[in-house]
Amino acid sequence: MICKYLEIEKKTDLRVVFENEFVMAVVPFSAQYAYDLYIYPKRCYSKLEESRQEELVSFANLLPKLVKSLFVIFGKEISYSLSLHQKVFNFPESPNIYHMYFKLHSPQRNKQSLKILGAVESSLGIFINGTMPEEATNDYRKALKSLL
Ligand SMILES: [Zn+2]
Repeated sequence: MICKYLEIEKKTDLRVVFENEFVMAVVPFSAQYAYDLYIYPKRCYSKLEESRQEELVSFANLLPKLVKSLFVIFGKEISYSLSLHQKVFNFPESPNIYHMYFKLHSPQRNKQSLKILGAVESSLGIFINGTMPEEATNDYRKALKSLL
């Protein structure tokens, strides 16, 4: 499913922040926070330990630049989290097919304020994001370009 999703994102090129031969960084159309960013290997595999050398090098080069891009966008160092999502080890119910990814996330809504969850967000898990993913993508692209 993620592989198909990446093909669609590549084709439209509206929300792809960065792409090389091995990895792709995308602001998802369903971003919960203004600058949610998912960084996928282009090859389908489920755990970081299955990465090839060139994929690890791509992640190692790209991830710090993406974090710095957030700082460029907001004009200051902001809080963020960078998480690895991969297949659960030794858990029989874990799906057989899982496309691992990193997620870069910040609660920063804009230069002045943080995103505060409203009732529908905190109780129902339905997020309202006032920033269009394509707008965040353009901000990331400009910031990343200034760092490369
Ligand atoms: Zn996949």
